[in-house]
Amino acid sequence: MKVLISDPVSEVAINKMKEAGNEVDVKPDVSPEELLEIISNYEALVVRSRTKVRKPLLEKAKNLKLIVRGGVGIDNIDVEDAKNMGIEVRNTPSASSASVAELAIGHMFSLARHIPRGTASLKTGEWIKKKLKGTELAGKTLGIIGIGRIGKETAKKATALGMNIVAYDPYLTESGIEGVKFADFDDLLSKSDYISLHIPHSDETHHLFSTEQFSKMKESAYLVNCARGGVIDEDALYNALSDGKIAGAAFDVFETEPPGEHNLFTLDNFFCTPHIGASTKEGQARVGDEVAKIINGFGK
Ligand code: NAD
Repeated sequence: MKVLISDPVSEVAINKMKEAGNEVDVKPDVSPEELLEIISNYEALVVRSRTKVRKPLLEKAKNLKLIVRGGVGIDNIDVEDAKNMGIEVRNTPSASSASVAELAIGHMFSLARHIPRGTASLKTGEWIKKKLKGTELAGKTLGIIGIGRIGKETAKKATALGMNIVAYDPYLTESGIEGVKFADFDDLLSKSDYISLHIPHSDETHHLFSTEQFSKMKESAYLVNCARGGVIDEDALYNALSDGKIAGAAFDVFETEPPGEHNLFTLDNFFCTPHIGASTKEGQARVGDEVAKIINGFGK
């Protein structure tokens, strides 16, 4: 197949596609304008999150049969339009689950032990040891919202740390992981010492966490979002953190990315990372591997 790779993909994966006999062009910085001009030359398109595959591009893609999104979310692709044009859309849903779960756990440790504040204060010449008394994760209750691929990985790792797991997922009745107890949403809110979100962003989950939900959480509770921006009402979170309704929060994802200046950044009890959940060497290698498998196996 003639394959265009329009976002960064691992060298190993590119070689695997070439070795299988595909003609592969790699243009990780291609502009939307250039893409519109060249897309008709290709039968397969590989994207990550940068390339937006909208209807006007699809209309020019006269020879396209397959779009592969290296990663999970396919919100950068007009999937229904692609399907209506007979173009198959695939992604690599499991490749980065372990990486995202590790980051969620990492954020929990940061919240429990104030690691980012410890670092920042030392670098500005402060020694605030007395202010940074932490808590252990062991023995605490972790509420997992959405016990799909990443939620399950998080549950396994947190169980190994000695945490008790409750899960809320209206579409599942069991997780397959020993020790995970299902709870209803309000029950989970009131019981959890940590809440970690692993749900998609949709009309149903938009601002799932807002003032009402924060008021039902423990004042000592921490909230972690490594899922998608938009599932938490950021203004309501700012108020909840400022007013001591909950103890802290950590985000990998924001409603607008990059978020620019944000009132959450003024708070000592808010930590964050710039959407790096899937950004590990191992996760990216697995993404590349799966992409190559999909391309090489297409139509066989
Ligand atoms: P998944 O589809 O395997 O799991 C999602 C789960 O959420 C499902 O079990 C589903 O039943 C459940 N769910 C749906 N609506 C719900 C609701 N209203 N309340 C509770 N549960 C609900 O997805 P996944 O691969 O585990 O990914 C989870 C999230 O993580 C997605 O939003 C994905 O985009 C995000 N993600 C983030 C990064 C990152 O870099 N931070 C990387 C990969 C994925």
